[in-house]
Amino acid sequence: MPAPRFIASDNTSGICPEALDYLLQANACDDLAYGDDAWTQRAVEGLRQLFDCDCEVFFVFNGTAANSLALAAMGQSYHSVICHELAHIETDECGAPEFFSNGAKLLTASGANGKLTPEGIERLMARRDDIHFPRPKVVSVTQATEVGTVYSREELLALRSVADKYELRLHMDGARFANACAALDASPAELTWQAGVDVLCFSGTKNGLAMGEVVIFFNRELAEDFGYRCKQAGQLASKMRFIAAPWLGLLETGAWRRNAEHANAMARYLAAGLDGLPGAELLFPPQANSVFVRFPPPLLAYLRELGWTFYTFIGASGVRFVCAWNTTPELLDSLLADIRLALDAGLSETST
Ligand SMILES: *Cc1c(COP(=O)(O)O)cnc(C)c1O
Repeated sequence: MPAPRFIASDNTSGICPEALDYLLQANACDDLAYGDDAWTQRAVEGLRQLFDCDCEVFFVFNGTAANSLALAAMGQSYHSVICHELAHIETDECGAPEFFSNGAKLLTASGANGKLTPEGIERLMARRDDIHFPRPKVVSVTQATEVGTVYSREELLALRSVADKYELRLHMDGARFANACAALDASPAELTWQAGVDVLCFSGTKNGLAMGEVVIFFNRELAEDFGYRCKQAGQLASKMRFIAAPWLGLLETGAWRRNAEHANAMARYLAAGLDGLPGAELLFPPQANSVFVRFPPPLLAYLRELGWTFYTFIGASGVRFVCAWNTTPELLDSLLADIRLALDAGLSETST
């Protein structure tokens, strides 16, 4: 079996040098626990500067916790959360949003390119408004989406106006928020509170950390007692500085943006190489750092034999490739070469 080659996810990558450098600095001397340390204070201030906003900031270990606890804080157990049918909170969090909110229901809508639309929300709102059905309270969007597209500022503002109409709060799953900022050449403020986002879950892991996400409350009232919620859920890191310091490394060096720009550029490079190959069909516009492509099934098996790693959760023959801060053009060249060779050798003729 050849050595695995990693292009399956942005969390197969290692820690980026800037984050590692700050991690080592934070390890040079002891400090206070549970977020009372100097690193955490600096990282919170750094995030407030980045977002140009006096927001409330909390560090947690992973994205499932960030989303679930944020959603739990945004509504009551008898409320519901509107999201896209492909949303990570719906498909990949093992019911954690429902669990941590003590029973809030997720209501899903379809929408092209992995995106919620004002019409989709309107349809759900029109379906029920009686006491027997959990009342919608939150709209959750994923930026960039699960299929590698991005919501423009205008699209976010349109969702915000429907949300206003029905007094819904706006949550953003920002597992790839940095990639969206880079893709849209927009500032973090423009894509969040200036577009009416109440709470953002901003991922450091997929951007180049070992672990660590921040939950950012632009609507500060929603943050009341959130620290207790994190602690109860096992998400209060006692050595919080080892999450905060690498975050500060991303912020102070600008690596958060460079890493995202690089990953996006690599995805564009891969998509350009695939575009026009007979037998390869791009499934979504590659706007962020992932590329979805349909291949003939025999090609999938062949690529796996060669050691390539990838997910196929969009349809049976839809492949997802994800680029990270450390993806190289050389890796993509060898992937493209393997694909071209296989297609030339006729692997697509058995295409279904
Ligand atoms: C990766 C990811 C998360 C977070 O996942 P964890 O494994 O819990 O850290 C959340 N949302 C989306 C869209 C993701 O891709």
